[in-house]
Amino acid sequence: MEPNMTTTSSQQSNVPVYQNFIHGRYMANQSGESFAVRNPATDEVIYHVEVADESIQSAAIESAKQGFAVWSAMTPIERSRILLKAVALLRERNDELAKVEVLDTGKPWQEAECVDVQTGADVIEYFAGLAPAQVGQQQMVGDDFYYTRKEPLGICAGIGAWNYPLQIACWKSGPALAAGNALVFKPSEETPLGALKLAEIFVEAGVPEGVFNVVQGAAQVGQWLTAHADIEKVSFTGEVGTGKKVMTSAASTLKDVTMELGGKSPLLVFDDADISDAVSAAMLGNFYTQGEICTNCTRVYVHKNVYEQFIDELKTRTENNIIAGDPMNPEVNLGALISKPHQQLVLNYIAKGVEEGAKLLTGGEALRPDSAPNGYFVAPTIFVDCHDDMTIVKEEIFGPVMSVLVFDDEQDVIKRANNTHLGLAAGVFTKDIQRAHRVIHQLEAGICWINAYGNSPAEMPVGGYKHSGIGRENGVETLDQYTQTKSVYVGMNKIESPF
Ligand code: NAD
Repeated sequence: MEPNMTTTSSQQSNVPVYQNFIHGRYMANQSGESFAVRNPATDEVIYHVEVADESIQSAAIESAKQGFAVWSAMTPIERSRILLKAVALLRERNDELAKVEVLDTGKPWQEAECVDVQTGADVIEYFAGLAPAQVGQQQMVGDDFYYTRKEPLGICAGIGAWNYPLQIACWKSGPALAAGNALVFKPSEETPLGALKLAEIFVEAGVPEGVFNVVQGAAQVGQWLTAHADIEKVSFTGEVGTGKKVMTSAASTLKDVTMELGGKSPLLVFDDADISDAVSAAMLGNFYTQGEICTNCTRVYVHKNVYEQFIDELKTRTENNIIAGDPMNPEVNLGALISKPHQQLVLNYIAKGVEEGAKLLTGGEALRPDSAPNGYFVAPTIFVDCHDDMTIVKEEIFGPVMSVLVFDDEQDVIKRANNTHLGLAAGVFTKDIQRAHRVIHQLEAGICWINAYGNSPAEMPVGGYKHSGIGRENGVETLDQYTQTKSVYVGMNKIESPF
């Protein structure tokens, strides 16, 4: 399916222009308004995207109503069969889609090639399998009985962040569509293409027109979705502050919400841990996807007995094993940050860390790799001897910046780890099985790892405690969050009435 490839005179460039995807096809807007998307590794405009103006917005809702009527009338097995075709297409087109993600996000090809598309496909496959097994209940009440039906909500909205654009679109559409809903999805304006490619695949697989529409734009289009009276639920991934705005707006029409927000997650390394493994986890949880992962363990608490050993190995491996450069080069394992302003934001946090007295172990500056001199790179940065009250230890940075802190006492470090309004993830490294569980059970976080970090299979529910989120994605319970329960009471006797 070809997008509209014309170039508008106002743009005066030879890059493609992508339109919104409504009712099974690309649709032109009426305002002519569009925005440019840049490759973060080159700073070049790679395409333009038309904004979802009023004409697109009303078409998206009308189309979704029609799509919902057709899709919700199918049996779960029929829907499942179609979604599994989409899964096969996603896997077949892995490399093409992974390249879209690399060019949009700046992340390394070596990650996108084996993670982004596959973890997205896994989730759609998981919910396609699960939906036909979703059952209501039935119970006798004397001679009478009631039964419950799991019915779809109707039209749902998905709003995505820019760090895993295609994966986020899959994680929201998988359960929404499997349960029989229609989804109007708005990707981040930084990374709009992956969702369009997913829309093409859904249509090719046989998902009816209007079941998955993609609207493009920034906050304004997001706000329209969150306030629209015909939308029953919003599933949002993004910053805590934006999440609060989305929830406030959604409250005006009493929408159901799922909130996948930011984090400042702790990793606790005890003195009996496998130190090499703990260093691997700390590096994965700070430098994978150049640090732009919500669950990152950006507060690494290391027991004083192994502190020197830990930071020695961490410094050596960070300085020797990280290769920044053109993200399409399969050797490169540190990509470019999403945008110039975001690069500057991360550099400002680093400057603040130095100013507040944190000791810079390595990194701390922007990079200009030979193979991508114009990209928005930041060196993998490690601060040691940090204190809990430093800005870099308290605020989400969303870049390759790790803060290492020392601890001595188990109860004290648990208290310090929990001393934040965020609660997305947490990790513990220890060989003591009882301590591992005892500590994890006390950490206030929704996604926890013991002697591992970052793994997120489709089967495992993920979501945050405290300000890091509401509701869950993935896992069995998420399907329930895209359905509502209808109770049906059946009278078996003549009605006794005082009237
Ligand atoms: P963001 O909050 O700036 O934007 C997210 C989305 O919301 C974008 O599509 C944006 O256009 C839209 N938006 C902005 N203002 C809006 C408004 N007022 N109403 C409706 N929509 C609006 O976040 P970001 O910078 O794209 O992503 C980074 C953040 O996302 C980080 O905080 C990160 O931790 C978080 N994140 C969380 C998870 C998770 O699963 N918990 C996953 C990925 C990213």
